Amino acid sequence: MPFALRNRLSSPQIVQPHDQPPLIWQAFGDPSGEDLREIPDDLRNDISLMRAVRLGNLELIEDAEKIDEAYDRMRSHGQQTADAAAQALQGTIQKQDTARAMIGTQCIAAGPRQGLRCENQVIMLASEQGTRPPLCSEHHTDAGRYVFVKGSDGQPDGWAKVTS
Ligand SMILES: [Zn+2]
Repeated sequence: MPFALRNRLSSPQIVQPHDQPPLIWQAFGDPSGEDLREIPDDLRNDISLMRAVRLGNLELIEDAEKIDEAYDRMRSHGQQTADAAAQALQGTIQKQDTARAMIGTQCIAAGPRQGLRCENQVIMLASEQGTRPPLCSEHHTDAGRYVFVKGSDGQPDGWAKVTS
């Protein structure tokens, strides 16, 4: 059963599913149809994607005909294939549009129970990654206790909580 997610925001949107590279959508109504992405079935229950749907940032589309319509728009719009357009878009966003792109990510604070992370999603500017810890409205007052740590030995960069 195919499904797709469409950006409902008027700015480009990035959501990073768990353990996956970030997914990028162009602004709602993008003339080339890049405001819609087909999503693999194994991401159907991804918490970051589903949260963006519940927040109304992404629209869940399960109607195969609607998905086909979006692909028709992509085909008719340009000479580029959908993949090449998506790659070009990704490059454009990374190089020029980073300041405006929004990213949805999970709050890094500890959750209510030990060993679990806070499940709230944080929407922030992509350009703020690495300069501001992603913390939800419940936890943002703890921002001063997090430092950005460069990963070593193949570990990704990330935020660490300073314990006193
Ligand atoms: Zn939180």
